[in-house]
Amino acid sequence: MSGDLLSSLDAHARAHLASLRTLPPTADPVKLRTALESLPKSLPDQGWGDARTLEYLTGTVAGGLAQGQAGPRYWGFVTGGVLPIAQAADNLVTLYDQNVQVHLPTQSLSTVIESRTLELLLSLLSLDPAGFPGRTFTTGATTSNILGLACGRQWAIAQAHPGYSVAEDGFGGYGCKVFVAKAHASLVKAASVVGIGRKNVIDCGQDVDDNGGLPFDLVRLERLMKECKERGDGIIVSPGFGEVNTGGFTPDVHRIRELCDTYGAWLHIDGAFGAFAKLVPDLQGYVEYLHLADSITVDAHKWLNVPYDSAAFFTRHADVLPSIFGPSPATGGPAYLSSGSVGPSYPALDAVQSIPSPLNVNLENSRRFRALPVFAALLSLGQEGYAELVQRNVAFARALGDYIAAHESYELLNPGNKVLLNIVLFRAKTVDSAELLKRINASGQMYASPTSWAGKGAVRIAVSNWMTRMDQTGETKSDLDIAMEVLDSVVQDS
Ligand SMILES: *Cc1c(COP(=O)(O)O)cnc(C)c1O
Repeated sequence: MSGDLLSSLDAHARAHLASLRTLPPTADPVKLRTALESLPKSLPDQGWGDARTLEYLTGTVAGGLAQGQAGPRYWGFVTGGVLPIAQAADNLVTLYDQNVQVHLPTQSLSTVIESRTLELLLSLLSLDPAGFPGRTFTTGATTSNILGLACGRQWAIAQAHPGYSVAEDGFGGYGCKVFVAKAHASLVKAASVVGIGRKNVIDCGQDVDDNGGLPFDLVRLERLMKECKERGDGIIVSPGFGEVNTGGFTPDVHRIRELCDTYGAWLHIDGAFGAFAKLVPDLQGYVEYLHLADSITVDAHKWLNVPYDSAAFFTRHADVLPSIFGPSPATGGPAYLSSGSVGPSYPALDAVQSIPSPLNVNLENSRRFRALPVFAALLSLGQEGYAELVQRNVAFARALGDYIAAHESYELLNPGNKVLLNIVLFRAKTVDSAELLKRINASGQMYASPTSWAGKGAVRIAVSNWMTRMDQTGETKSDLDIAMEVLDSVVQDS
């Protein structure tokens, strides 16, 4: 980047960051319209040049973007913010533009940092890195779930048919079932992508209990697993681990582990944000069996507060990933993609020689250096800093939940009338949920998402941004006060 481009960008970034706390969560409708109508419909014959293009991006296009999506009151979906250190590291990623696909440890540390970062992330979640030797960064929990189902199918069909490899031999007419409790929609997408089929994702969950649990019907689960075993189907089981409307967890995961061992099933846990309950003291009982999973999905762009797009995948079976994503054992990989190093050996280098090339353990070949922002954030905050961040978000969601539960115009829908993790689920008593959501989001002060609960519309708020504050600082109102004011005002006169 030329010095001029760099300084224009810097000026824009400074102004944006200085007002992030007070920017409306979404785009201003007028600016959005201006930007939309300005979008070129065809490729310019003669390029605009860098200066004019950047001016167009910062002056017009940026106005059409969701201004405060990284800010403290964007509570739609499950949206993380961006820690300053993660933002800085992400800029370095762009600057150095490493292609993290082949492990070439004497040429670049990128693959080693990726591997070390994944170990640090396991430690953050109190998981033993030695227990999860198969690991990689992905673009999101959806991709991690695709890896989870691909690995589960590969492994479970080989349990039923020893020596058979779906990756090598194709599906071969063997079925595979995925038993879930209120699974995230991306798991169903993953079943579609890997060829298991959406219809083979079967919900064995029961109604959410008052403790926010998402119990499996274990009797039904075992009967279905037995039938699969008799038919020679592969079996994958995926308990709920941070359900998107309630933050709930499937209890008795150790019982499910026993069933998986009995029937040769793969246990996949989608802990996209739920895994971070490991950092909340009073939720330990809900998440104590995470380590029993064969594979785990963890999002980084949610609760780790690093920029999009970033997530991780872990498995205890180190050999399953390369059996799918590596070269065929029959032919080997192309020579130009082989790893290795030349030059003198020394102990620290010898210790990292065996790291697999990322291209052999995930979907992509060429890929971004996603690990660096996570590495930087983990170093900057440490275990205690992340525990504090997550606990602060949970405390915020619980305080807002208590306010809603006590409010005459609202009904809190979280099981047991209390917020478990970071998701607040509610509706108004006299305003329809679609209208309520419209009013909340039109306030320009906070942003929530629609959902459906017990067959009726509802509104949900998910808190996972490092900037969200419960206390007033100086002249700035707390985000909790702002949310309470908005919630009060949108139900007045109705
Ligand atoms: C957000 C989420 C996903 C999808 O994650 P992406 O990062 O958007 O791909 C999957 N599972 C759960 C439980 C989630 O919360």
